Amino acid sequence: MRELNDDAVVLRTYRYREADRIAVLFTRHHGKVRVLARGARKTTSRLGAALEVLGHVGVDLVASRGDLFVARHVAHRSTLSTLRADYARIGAGYAIVEALDALPEGMADEAVYELAVRVLTTLDNPDYLPELVPASFYLRLLALDGSAPMVEACVECGRAAPLVAFDAEAGGVRCDRCRRGRPLSREGLALLRRVLGGDLATVLRDPDPPGAAEVSALAHEAAEAHLGRPLRALRALAGAPGVEAGSDR
Ligand SMILES: [Zn+2]
Repeated sequence: MRELNDDAVVLRTYRYREADRIAVLFTRHHGKVRVLARGARKTTSRLGAALEVLGHVGVDLVASRGDLFVARHVAHRSTLSTLRADYARIGAGYAIVEALDALPEGMADEAVYELAVRVLTTLDNPDYLPELVPASFYLRLLALDGSAPMVEACVECGRAAPLVAFDAEAGGVRCDRCRRGRPLSREGLALLRRVLGGDLATVLRDPDPPGAAEVSALAHEAAEAHLGRPLRALRALAGAPGVEAGSDR
């Protein structure tokens, strides 16, 4: 009987039969894993309480048929109670798990797992504002995959200034002669560099950093171009409602 003990983030859940739930997890060591939680939709279920979207959990699983596992024991690694109490933070969290869910099937990557947990922990910290967290997550996810956007010079000709556009397909900024993609303001470029550099903690304390909407939009575009599929949660967040779409309750 194959057992699996690991830490995980809950990406998505759906109903199964009368009272069961299937949860899709992103684990530290085994990539994406599907888990059947028997009785999880009963209100008294401890499995159900832990296996909710955006849960950060430790799991004890047993292999079932196909690639499905059955949950034996699930415990919270952190409760993320600040995140769970705030609509904007939950929405940002959904944008994170949606991008994780869009990663290629079977890819196990501890660095991606650790980034995800770090980002959820950031969303759970009341000192930091949630608005730019998905953008910073997307950009770091690209960087982990060796596709960090080029922001110091034009991706086409290498000129350092003036940089006036961001091209998600080419993966970087463009100068005024090679302009293509979305226009990028001076403020947007400065903020993009701060988010990608070591200044993220300061950026996330600022209630309204200049260029924030631009950086959110271009990071979203870059992530969609890289993952090869649309990411809807962030758009749903901007247009709300719709952030509860991943829950089965
Ligand atoms: Zn150029």
